[in-house]
Amino acid sequence: MNTIGHWLEQARLLLAASDKQGADPESARLDSDLLVQHVTGKSRASLFAFPEATLTPEQLDALDALLQRRCLGEPLAYITGQREFWSLPLQLGEGVLIPRPDTEILVEQALARLSTLPAGGIIELGTGSGAIAVALAQEISDRAIIAVECHTAAIKVAQGNIGRFGNGRVQLVQGSWLDALADDCAAMIISNPPYLANNDPHLPALHYEPLSALVSGQSGLEDLETIISATCRVGRPGCLLLLEHGNEQGDAVRSLLGQYNFKHIQTERDLAGHERVSFGFLTTELAGDTRQE
Ligand code: GLN
Repeated sequence: MNTIGHWLEQARLLLAASDKQGADPESARLDSDLLVQHVTGKSRASLFAFPEATLTPEQLDALDALLQRRCLGEPLAYITGQREFWSLPLQLGEGVLIPRPDTEILVEQALARLSTLPAGGIIELGTGSGAIAVALAQEISDRAIIAVECHTAAIKVAQGNIGRFGNGRVQLVQGSWLDALADDCAAMIISNPPYLANNDPHLPALHYEPLSALVSGQSGLEDLETIISATCRVGRPGCLLLLEHGNEQGDAVRSLLGQYNFKHIQTERDLAGHERVSFGFLTTELAGDTRQE
């Protein structure tokens, strides 16, 4: 019984049984299909069409080893080294946050507001895998995009994805948030920063991912505030700041944006209906009137 169909059947049962969140047949099905696709190079359609196709002993060994890692809780994106974002097959690796589908809302909001922005570049902070920067580079052809990352492991992964999907339009800069950036240069600053509190109950389930990409101090708001405050220096008048944040941080982020004198502050909800992305614009009055320094 070394057919694809048989292996998939067994794998689904094992995955569903090992799922600590409770059996989810849909994700067990998807994960087992993705493992077979990864090892055999076949399309998902061909797994459905030819379940009687046989696996070689080497493929079976490889699949069993990968399945065991998945059953122990390792995210599929790290096992296959790949995760789709904005329909792009991004390369992933340990040390880099796995892009979430909800983060596509950040990209959609950025694209929806482009026409209202002043001249200037787009800066993505804490790019990680490069997901947001390359998604923007697929859609925007007339602005420079700078992706900032401070961690060397993430820089390596981002470099690969930017080389593959950045359309030659994304410059990668190693640095902490906006520290390496000049005054008054950005038309848009966009970020999915770490925003979980250091005692967030979800952290144990996320232990494969880098804490530095998830946690921001006791409240989860420290990096969000650093970015909001530094945008007042780096953003041009009219600059849009777009931030992903935790589902209970909408009030806090809107109030920080107000405190730093951003205008037209709004929040968008994620796929589950939670407040997830907030944004505001630097005032278009003379920059000198609004600086925080
Ligand atoms: N949204 C992620 C999660 O809860 C956290 C990502 C982040 O901190 N930026 O899994």
